[in-house]
Amino acid sequence: MSYSTSQPETFAPVDRSGPARISVVVPCFNEEEVIAMSHDRLKAVLASLHQTQNLDYELIYVDDGSRDQTAAKLAAIAAGDAHVGVVMLSRNFGHQPAVTAGLDRASGDCVVIIDADLQDPPELIADMVAMWREGHDVVYGRRTDREGESAFKLGTARLFYRGLNMLSDVEIPLDVGDFRLMDRQVVDSISQMKERDRFLRGMVSWVGFRQAALPYRRAARAAGQSKYPLRKMILFALDGMLSFSLAPLRFVIMLGLAILVLAGFGIVYAILNRLLTDQWVSGWTLLFIAVMFMGGVQLMVLGMIGEYVGRIYMASKERPLYLVKRMIGLHDRG
Ligand code: UDP
Ligand code: MG
Repeated sequence: MSYSTSQPETFAPVDRSGPARISVVVPCFNEEEVIAMSHDRLKAVLASLHQTQNLDYELIYVDDGSRDQTAAKLAAIAAGDAHVGVVMLSRNFGHQPAVTAGLDRASGDCVVIIDADLQDPPELIADMVAMWREGHDVVYGRRTDREGESAFKLGTARLFYRGLNMLSDVEIPLDVGDFRLMDRQVVDSISQMKERDRFLRGMVSWVGFRQAALPYRRAARAAGQSKYPLRKMILFALDGMLSFSLAPLRFVIMLGLAILVLAGFGIVYAILNRLLTDQWVSGWTLLFIAVMFMGGVQLMVLGMIGEYVGRIYMASKERPLYLVKRMIGLHDRG
């Protein structure tokens, strides 16, 4: 069969006007202060969509090993509501594995990922659904404005996404988090990607399909503290960079080459100095600097290569991404 990639990018119209089902995945880690409030707002939005749009729904909360009352509160919510399912993980696996656990159990024709802290307004789900009905396969929220975030967080986030796109092999849209709607086809594609280091927003960019942005103002956290301290943010940024590109390794090669050229000049200089002058011993400052500099560069390079090797090691163990302790309301699904 012949296969051509040169065809213009056209999207066959899809009919999504009929009755459908939406799944909403909410990762929760120590969110006891907000979870009831979040549930009320999500419920209001989804119930109204259910009535006006012929859209059945399920709400999947993933308890990511919370150490507070989150799990108990979720269980209570699920007990009184047939639309709610809860996946309880055996410990804290992190935001991205928690989202993956929810996606794996979502049965909807489209799936929304939303944070539990109401920073992403649930009311926007209605707009996302409207765009999905029009034929978009991914609708991601783009933050035009963020309230209640430190200038430091905003600045580093900005820098990170600009830098990532310079380095990375896939274009990841700017100022976009995980708040998004995905069509069933996209969710299935994502679950085929078995990589350990799950940088979901990058993976969703990678799969293609028809994607569109929905601009919104990101609110301040409704209650509680950010579960992303600086340490986690740096690790997350590393994940984004290393799992999407070999560019850091290439950068290291270029750096090595540049230093080799410099070293070449240095060697010529040292030899000439030795042969033509009588004060060649005095060069130890240069020597000292060169040794220190090379030591630093080598350590950096080793660390960088080590990071990739470590990832290969972790991936080769093929451990599951997360472990489920208990499920409520989702028993029929693995
Ligand atoms: N979260 C999680 N596991 C974690 C950390 C966070 O499931 O290890 C959830 C958290 O409950 C929230 C979402 O991921 O629903 C985003 O976390 P947070 O609001 O703390 O991040 P920020 O908005 O500050 O980037
Ligand atoms: Mg938040």
